[in-house]
Amino acid sequence: MSAPTTGCPDAAEVSTAVELLRSAAVRAINTHVNAAGSCAACESVWPCAQALLAEHNLAAL
Ligand SMILES: [Zn+2]
Repeated sequence: MSAPTTGCPDAAEVSTAVELLRSAAVRAINTHVNAAGSCAACESVWPCAQALLAEHNLAAL
């Protein structure tokens, strides 16, 4: 019962990593929201870099 040590992540590890990325992106999208033209979380001009990055990551997943 020894798993092959190829160094490649197995499917479960990959899906865990994807879930972590997805939950981080969802959290960013939920906090970095448009508040009258600026971001409610970081107060940058909307859309802020965090919101754009999170949307990009979600689209890629
Ligand atoms: Zn923001």
